[in-house]
Amino acid sequence: MIKNKIDLHLHLDGSLRPETVWELGREQDIVLPTKAKEELEGFLRVPEDCKSLTEYLQCFDLPLMVLQKAEAIERVVYELIEDLKEEGVIYAEIRFAPQFSTKKGLSQEQVVEAAIAGLNRGLKDFSSIKASLILCCMRGEGNEEENLKTIEVAGKYLGKGVCAVDLAGAEALFKTECYEGLFEKVRKLGLPFTIHAGEADGAESIKKALEFGAKRIGHGIRVIEDRELLEKVIREKITLEVCPISNLHTKAAKDVNSHPIRVLFDMGVRVTVNTDNRTVSNTSLDREYEFLKKYYQFQEKEIEKMNEYAKEAAFF
Ligand SMILES: [Zn+2]
Repeated sequence: MIKNKIDLHLHLDGSLRPETVWELGREQDIVLPTKAKEELEGFLRVPEDCKSLTEYLQCFDLPLMVLQKAEAIERVVYELIEDLKEEGVIYAEIRFAPQFSTKKGLSQEQVVEAAIAGLNRGLKDFSSIKASLILCCMRGEGNEEENLKTIEVAGKYLGKGVCAVDLAGAEALFKTECYEGLFEKVRKLGLPFTIHAGEADGAESIKKALEFGAKRIGHGIRVIEDRELLEKVIREKITLEVCPISNLHTKAAKDVNSHPIRVLFDMGVRVTVNTDNRTVSNTSLDREYEFLKKYYQFQEKEIEKMNEYAKEAAFF
């Protein structure tokens, strides 16, 4: 039994309970893709042999449709804290993009306030767990203002439920180098941050994130492609938020044998294990740990070491 479980890389919209999505859909008069409640799960979860990133990303359509109301956002944050507590997680950083919940009139600020309300209610009811929120800016076109708003709201609620910002989205299409200006502002505001890099794009993307000052990288597994960068990551004690099962689903790693987690850990990279999207990938920290034991012969002691790295890299 692994103690001190920590999940540093966990997306809210990919971790909703299927029955909650069902109920929220009905409450909000949203046309669901099936009339049978038990079939809904199939639209929120990738098949084990997920073929592509596109197939993976489709699983977020429905969650985002139901997350346009403050009550819904409050509820799912609360429920996720409850699910994490059930698993015995002691600390989690839950991330989401406020700009994705503004389609029906909520401002990003209202979205974040709703999430904080759910967080606070969860922390009050389930006192064995600690948690905080990371606000994601999104890669994309024409959303510069939304990203600036996200970091402004993060600044306002930093230390009051929010612990950091992130950059997520289509990394191969919208390169990390395009976000230099954004992270200059993030640094000016004194916001802690992590960046998704080295998942869909290669080592260059990680290099840029480090140039911006990132001390934590979301995934970052493609650091394995660049020896010099790998040495820098070790030397500068950069923490990688690795999500092994997700990496296989999104094809960041081609197959089980080509995932570099064992090599990275053995070389001394501060690797942490996380779930990314609990519902989409049908996973939990326990599942990730089992996966590591089965395919990469990780010992419990080594997994505990990774949780120590996670504790040291926590933003909270
Ligand atoms: Zn992620």
